Amino acid sequence: MSVSSNQKVMSNNYLFEPNPSVSVPIRGDDRRFPVNRIFCVGRNYQAHAAEMGDSIDKSTAEPFYFIKDLSAICESGSTIPYSAGTSDLQYEMEWVVAIHKGGFEIEEAQAQEHIFGYACGLDMTRRDLQQKGKDKRRPWDLGKNFENAAVISEIVPVTTTGVLTAGPIELRVNGETQQTGDLSDLIWNASELIAHLSKFYTLQPGDLIYTGTPEGVGPVVSGDKIEGCVAGVGSIELTIS
Ligand code: MN
Repeated sequence: MSVSSNQKVMSNNYLFEPNPSVSVPIRGDDRRFPVNRIFCVGRNYQAHAAEMGDSIDKSTAEPFYFIKDLSAICESGSTIPYSAGTSDLQYEMEWVVAIHKGGFEIEEAQAQEHIFGYACGLDMTRRDLQQKGKDKRRPWDLGKNFENAAVISEIVPVTTTGVLTAGPIELRVNGETQQTGDLSDLIWNASELIAHLSKFYTLQPGDLIYTGTPEGVGPVVSGDKIEGCVAGVGSIELTIS
């Protein structure tokens, strides 16, 4: 019998132990948020697009995405090794939207109903490998999708925060501010992203959307302590060993 990838196979009989499910703590709840997929939005703040040598005209442009594997998830407060294969590991502070209700071709006006909560995220990037991919017109995976590349804080339910559309987003390295922005500067807001992304994927409970980074991305070195925050959501910490 052939089994499509959408069908769940229940079995206790595996060649080796399957990886455990990946989950994130929820503020004010003993239960954890099981992570399904990790979508990341590229260039969603004009000032960051500019520092990447781009300018976004929303009247003609569409958002674009890349995906990280579950193995990239890393909880806030972790100490991680400097990533393999790069000499330009960089931080990108991001506001993360957590989906608890799936859907295909979700209407923008209904998009908020699909959001369970928000988190702070770090889209860790091997910038040199990403740049090499761009130069050679190859995929970004080596630059974006690797262990500990999707750092995430606890998820805070919307019932706690209220619907967020504005508020400061910041990142400090060793106490020094490197990134500042405001959620109101997102080129595509959370509802627009959900409406757009769900034209291409059937969104599922547990999907995370890293909504893009403001200006000021930069490198880290061993020993650095990264701290970020999104007003109304909370904070995130990461140390490079
Ligand atoms: Mn990013």
